[in-house]
Amino acid sequence: MNDVSENLKDVRARMIKAAREYDLTPSDVTLVAVSKMQPPERIEAALAAGQRVFGENRVQEAQGRWETLKQQYPDIVLHLIGPLQTNKAKDAVALFDVIESVDRADIARALAKEMKKQGRMLSCFIQVNTGAEEQKAGVLPQELSALLGICREEGLIIEGLMCIPPIDEPPALHFAFLRKLAKEQGLEKLSMGMSADYEKAVPLGATHVRVGTAIFGER
Ligand SMILES: *Cc1c(COP(=O)(O)O)cnc(C)c1O
Repeated sequence: MNDVSENLKDVRARMIKAAREYDLTPSDVTLVAVSKMQPPERIEAALAAGQRVFGENRVQEAQGRWETLKQQYPDIVLHLIGPLQTNKAKDAVALFDVIESVDRADIARALAKEMKKQGRMLSCFIQVNTGAEEQKAGVLPQELSALLGICREEGLIIEGLMCIPPIDEPPALHFAFLRKLAKEQGLEKLSMGMSADYEKAVPLGATHVRVGTAIFGER
């Protein structure tokens, strides 16, 4: 039985517990419900349960689902958490509220241009490839500072960093590393932690956790 509203309650309770154990304020952590590839009835169940912050990793898939839902529920906050191509920047800026996957100069420039054009200044995160994995999106840690400089020149609002740790390494190491990088750069927000490890990310300072299967079930 896949009860989305029960799952949501459970995840929220675990986030609160993880925060309290480390004397952190639970309300400082935002739950981004990752709805990619999930059937509409599960999304409806999450909306009915009061969830309003969602994450999608593909622009096109998100358009089909969220353009109408956002009209129905104007308080939805939609995060793009997947890799972005420059030719999708226009659609991404029109639909999303937060872009978590800024990871190179051409994307930063394309996003900045579209935001100015559309008069929609979205909050952004830079995705960092903390494990320096070849196949993975994200800027390499040693290139973060330069990319951040370009983003600021372009006028992008970079609020924090995002990472997806390598599957075969302890995630806490990567969460701590991301926090260190953010601190060095004077950035306040940290998007880290997924279904398997959000309870580890909260004590390490996550301001956003991105949880899919633990809420919606298997994709
Ligand atoms: C799919 C996805 C998630 C959610 O993963 P779960 O393991 O289902 O919680 C989080 N972040 C990103 C970037 C994703 O693509």
